[in-house]
Amino acid sequence: MQQITGHTRFGGLIGSPVSHSISPAMHNLSFEERGIDWVYLAFDVPQDKVGETVRVFRDLNVFGFNVTMPDKQRVMEYLDEVSETAAMMGAVNTVVNHDGRLIGCNTDGYGFAQSVRERGFELAGSEITILGAGGAARSAAVQAAVDGVKKLHIVNRKTRSWKGAEELVGEICRKSSCEADLTDLEDISVLADKIGSSSLLFNATPVGMSPNEGHSPLPDKKLLHSGLTVMDAIYNPRQTELMKDAMEAGCSTFNGIYMLLWQGAEAFRLWTGQDMPVELVRERYFS
Ligand code: NAP
Repeated sequence: MQQITGHTRFGGLIGSPVSHSISPAMHNLSFEERGIDWVYLAFDVPQDKVGETVRVFRDLNVFGFNVTMPDKQRVMEYLDEVSETAAMMGAVNTVVNHDGRLIGCNTDGYGFAQSVRERGFELAGSEITILGAGGAARSAAVQAAVDGVKKLHIVNRKTRSWKGAEELVGEICRKSSCEADLTDLEDISVLADKIGSSSLLFNATPVGMSPNEGHSPLPDKKLLHSGLTVMDAIYNPRQTELMKDAMEAGCSTFNGIYMLLWQGAEAFRLWTGQDMPVELVRERYFS
């Protein structure tokens, strides 16, 4: 454990709950390894106290902070600036203190793209399908468009997120060269076309997550084909029902554990200007 002195700066994580988070461990190890006199703490902040917490953080000159559920949208109104991609994603997960100005960013999309890249999948020029239209799906969708995905199919049920998904698809088409569209999860024949022509399927719904293991977000496992790489945002359990079905269908599969690692690495880079010692963090906390 590093020595805390009169010079030590702090930052951390806000949201609720936060006690399970791996972020304090990964950032404190990285600060120590890089010789940076900073410390990262987790703060359980009720929703109605987000504005007050940001004001106090600003006065105490934090180096920055992460934001988790349920505060990723709400925090935006208390910042000085929000990056264009974070605004399109509709959420901020990382705040950087630039000489007293608090800038909101989103590194979840980077985490998705980097974990896909390290599995050898090239996003640029590809056709992909994303299941879900909530926070994780939006971050991945915007990052995919920024990284040059040619065709992007977003699939959701026609409930809570549908209107937001329509707006997101419109914005991606207007602001990038990516052709995005939206499909109803219950429209099996259209879904079969979209998944059939995709080379990556990303599950960004909570279906199959512990304690509700054993469920797949796909209405029919015959939609899977051997030309598909399947990534699940879920990492608890490490192997989801969707991943099991996908393996049976001959797909390459992986879970969202390294998405978590890479979103943290990018936040570390934004705060410090240095690379996180990713392999050390991976070995210590992600294996
Ligand atoms: P969210 O904002 O609540 O969005 C969930 C999405 O899934 C929504 O589009 C929702 O549709 C849809 N959905 C929920 N239940 C469904 C069901 N039974 N059938 C079909 N669709 C359903 O959640 P999120 O923050 O994006 O998180 C989604 C998953 O990703 C969670 O498992 C989370 O743990 C994981 N995640 C992983 C990472 C990582 O670093 N690996 C990062 C973020 C999230 P409606 O809104 O219309 O209900």
